[in-house]
This record gives sequence, C-alpha cells and structure tokens, in this order.
Amino acid sequence: MKTETNAVCQRLGYKGHSIPTSISSSVDSNIKSAYKLIKPRYAYVPKVIDGTLRQEVFMAGHLVFTSQTISYVLSDCKWAVVFLVTIGGDLEREVSRLMEKGDMLNAFILDTIGSEAAEKAADYLQDAVSETAKAIGYNTTLRYSPGYCDWDVSQQKIIFQIIESTVLGVNLTEGFMMIPRKSVSGVIGIGKFSKSKLPPCLRCNRKKSCQYKRTKL
Ligand code: SF4
Repeated sequence: MKTETNAVCQRLGYKGHSIPTSISSSVDSNIKSAYKLIKPRYAYVPKVIDGTLRQEVFMAGHLVFTSQTISYVLSDCKWAVVFLVTIGGDLEREVSRLMEKGDMLNAFILDTIGSEAAEKAADYLQDAVSETAKAIGYNTTLRYSPGYCDWDVSQQKIIFQIIESTVLGVNLTEGFMMIPRKSVSGVIGIGKFSKSKLPPCLRCNRKKSCQYKRTKL
C-alpha cells in the first residue's frame, strides 16, 4: 500500500487494524481525484521576539501571544515564525457536493485526505523553516497552533493580523475558524536551545490524558 494511502487509512481509524480492500481502493481513487483539488499555498512572517514573561510572548509590533506552553517553548527563541498554510477551497466544495448527493463514504474519505494534505503542507513549510534556520546556525521548535495546549483559539486573530491571509484566500470567522477549513496556522520558534530544556509535554499536568503530546520541543 502506498504511504499516502496508509496515512489516510490511519486517519480514518484503521490504526493497528487490517484495512478492507474496498476501503483502500476507495482511498486510492479519491487520492487521484484530490490531486486536482488540492492547491497548497502558504505564507510566513518571522517576528522578532522581544521577550517572554510567565504566559506572555512579546513580539515586535506590540503583538503578544498568551499561553504558558507557547511562552515556555519560545523562551529561548529569537524569532517566532508565524505561518498560515492552506490547500484551498476546491476539495471542500467537492466534499459538500458528494454529501448533497448522499455519497457519505466518499465525502468522508475525501475530507480526510484534505486534512492529511493540509498537515503535509504544514510539514513541508516546517522543514523549509528548519533548513533556513540550520543554515544560519539556529534550531527550530515544533509547530504549535492556537486551539491546542493552553493556547486559546481566539489568538488566531493575532496570527491573522501578522499574515496577509486574503492573499491566500483564507478568512477567519467570528468564532476563529479558518475558511477554507483545510488550513493550518501557528508558530515555529527559531533559537538556540539548551540540550537540557525539557519538551513542554514532559512538564505538563495534562500529559497522561493528552492525545497530542510530543516528546520534542
Ligand atoms: S501534553 Fe498536550 S496539552 Fe500538555 S503541552 Fe503537550 S500537547 Fe500541550
């Protein structure tokens, strides 16, 4: 099975279970259709970090992120690379069309492919930022998005203040949801970290039950 088919099947809930051939074939054929519908675009802006204090990260331009986790992660960083990635709205429109037709299985599979594609696009951006940082002798953190850990989703508004989101065709609703939904926003820190700095998940009191915990910084 191809890597991308396997990744989508895992998202569909087949982690550790055998995947019926009918499902893997449907995923394969939806991936082929999705290639025409996925139009990845991204933007990022490195903001100088003026300092961190308790749960606040102070950035150039009087912009402040508020989260204990983000403040800890960015505490040794020189820049906060604020980013926005999208795969565009065509795939979501096709999902809606399939749902209206009552083809729920293919709608669900295509929607899941969209989620996987958006994360892959964010991975690609993260790798590019890491390469650039490495070239100038710096390290990067993992990426963090509003709505995760203790970073309130309302902080999306700061990201959208920094990024020219309309150029990417991404809008923020009053409830801080991104449209198209298959978009990822967040921050990656660039800095020089002590090898002994613990990943935030290892200090977090939610680590036992959290499904998103990670062991890197
Ligand atoms: S354990 Fe979960 S909530 Fe805690 S820092 Fe890690 S990802 Fe965030």
